[in-house]
Amino acid sequence: MTKNLLLKLTLAAVLAAGAAPCRAAGPQAAGKNRAQFALTFDDGPGYITEDLLKLLESRKAKATFFMLGTAVRAKPATAKKAQDAGHLIANHTDSHKNWFKLGKGPDRERTLAAEIRKGEEAIVKATGVKPAILRMPNGYDRPWVRETAKKLGYRTANWSYGSDWTRTAEDAMTREYLKATRAGAVLLLHDGGGKNRERTLRITAAILDEAARLGLEPVRLDVLLAGPAPGN
Ligand SMILES: [Zn+2]
Repeated sequence: MTKNLLLKLTLAAVLAAGAAPCRAAGPQAAGKNRAQFALTFDDGPGYITEDLLKLLESRKAKATFFMLGTAVRAKPATAKKAQDAGHLIANHTDSHKNWFKLGKGPDRERTLAAEIRKGEEAIVKATGVKPAILRMPNGYDRPWVRETAKKLGYRTANWSYGSDWTRTAEDAMTREYLKATRAGAVLLLHDGGGKNRERTLRITAAILDEAARLGLEPVRLDVLLAGPAPGN
């Protein structure tokens, strides 16, 4: 096994390692030799997404948007703008159901497949591109979820740090995000599905400042997962 492949597999394991919904998925086991990290935004498109796209463009940053089918149907033009700007559009299912509950049901595979397909349909209709990465609502991760996702052409990916759904004060929250900004990191913020999403714009701007200071490049999640170019 090559070193690059090992790094890739380790990072994939970290990403898919079943993060509890409200805390980090685990240590930064990989990617430390690479000056890249990934910004990921969930639950959109939302009312701040177009401003977020402007911010990312002004900093020449690429990001990944885990979109909900329900949100894409409400703002298809915004989804298309994100796609056209070169960001990665990924699937966050159609309607953000509670899988901690549904996952106990007898019909869970069929229900999940329908949720993935419906989200995908909305994304394909709006952007013309079929997503290939799935993040489950609340980071719900089980072997049967990965299997179901795989059958539909997806890999699953969680995050290394995120906290914008907690009650932490914004200045403390921002500091935590900055601390987590490092090579190989997958940061999670929300651009849809809630109030005070302007905070996402402020924290993202602070993260991008910190990344510039550290010489880190914000890249799409598929780029981060692909690992360094051969020979690096
Ligand atoms: Zn979500």
